[in-house]
Amino acid sequence: MVTSKVFKYSFLIIFVLAISGFFFFKYNSFDGNFVRDTVAKEQQLVEPPELDRVELIEIVNGSTYGELMSGVGISADLANQIYKTATDKYDLVKIKVGHNLEITFDKNTDQFKQLVYKIDSEDELAVYQNSELTAEIRPIPYEVKIVTKGGVVESSMYEAALKNNIDERAIIALADVFQWTIDFALDPRVNDGFKFVYEERYLNGEYQMPGRVLAGEYVNAGQKYQVYYFEEDKDNVGYFDENGNSVQKMFLKAPVSFRYISSGFTTGARYIEAFNISTGHRAVDYAAKSGTPIRSVGDGTVIMASRNGSYGNMVKVRHNGTYQTNYGHMSKFAVKQGNKVKQGDIIGYVGSTGLSTGPHLHYEMEKNGVKINPLLEIQPPGRAIKKENKPRFLTEMQQWQIALGK
Ligand SMILES: [Zn+2]
Repeated sequence: MVTSKVFKYSFLIIFVLAISGFFFFKYNSFDGNFVRDTVAKEQQLVEPPELDRVELIEIVNGSTYGELMSGVGISADLANQIYKTATDKYDLVKIKVGHNLEITFDKNTDQFKQLVYKIDSEDELAVYQNSELTAEIRPIPYEVKIVTKGGVVESSMYEAALKNNIDERAIIALADVFQWTIDFALDPRVNDGFKFVYEERYLNGEYQMPGRVLAGEYVNAGQKYQVYYFEEDKDNVGYFDENGNSVQKMFLKAPVSFRYISSGFTTGARYIEAFNISTGHRAVDYAAKSGTPIRSVGDGTVIMASRNGSYGNMVKVRHNGTYQTNYGHMSKFAVKQGNKVKQGDIIGYVGSTGLSTGPHLHYEMEKNGVKINPLLEIQPPGRAIKKENKPRFLTEMQQWQIALGK
């Protein structure tokens, strides 16, 4: 096979050289351009360079690093050297099921050239042959495409996204940038609109996943909210409104994340009981499946994680001298009394313990010991961009506004 292929190509190349030689002699003295053109055509017919051999090994249950390496013909000795080289960067014994090992062999020598292992969605381990074996953790070299998508809410933002072929991971990321602004369990209304600019990540031309959300707009019951991604400096990176105020606030709008309410809830009856002074229900009840994670709406200290009469399993988080939040009827705790929690940390799971007729979260906010309606508590705007960085922010914002179609 190989011999006949080489023979065939040699024959072809000789033939092309002969033809181009003919044209060269015939036209060289009259027209230089024509000669160059002919030479270019000849080069196109030369066999393309061979590529390195790449073995993509899928890590399945029960596979070990050593076995996978020997499976592609790497000696135990070399596998061990690669392992040792990688070890301060990443322990190759910890490779995970479902990930891949990508091993490249040199096209000329067929010797080991490189091992790549994607650790998570951001970084990969590479061990490669330089003058000696070298290991490094480096960002995965995605190709990034910036896209603008959006939709109109008929039942939920999630449904609207699926209908418009938006990756559900992108819509969750969009909801996350609005998590201090909109309670996606309670606020959405029919005909709300959303639009956002975000990155799509590709590897070798194949779509992998969404990247960062760069700008977003949500129109809730006629009120427009906008967020823009901005890197002020390495300590202040995040989302800002059109005035340059951080949208990140002391409390999240809801103790249940969009990712858990997204598919199960629609506009309308998404909570079973609202805050109501006259009925004495000084809390908001979120209907959710048993086991749905509950998150602390703010940073704080857990001052209770135990059974508490009709509240069932209850967690109380003290945020500062003024605010405290309480979460009742949990099926399970994720924290203990005395734990410090960060905003968004999971503190327990929805259940129906205590005096409860079905799985739901009973959520209370206290201000100076008085139960208040958390949905009406007005929060001060987050930290603003410094004056000297404002022009840069506004320039970038205008660019995203154009992408949003303003
Ligand atoms: Zn309740």
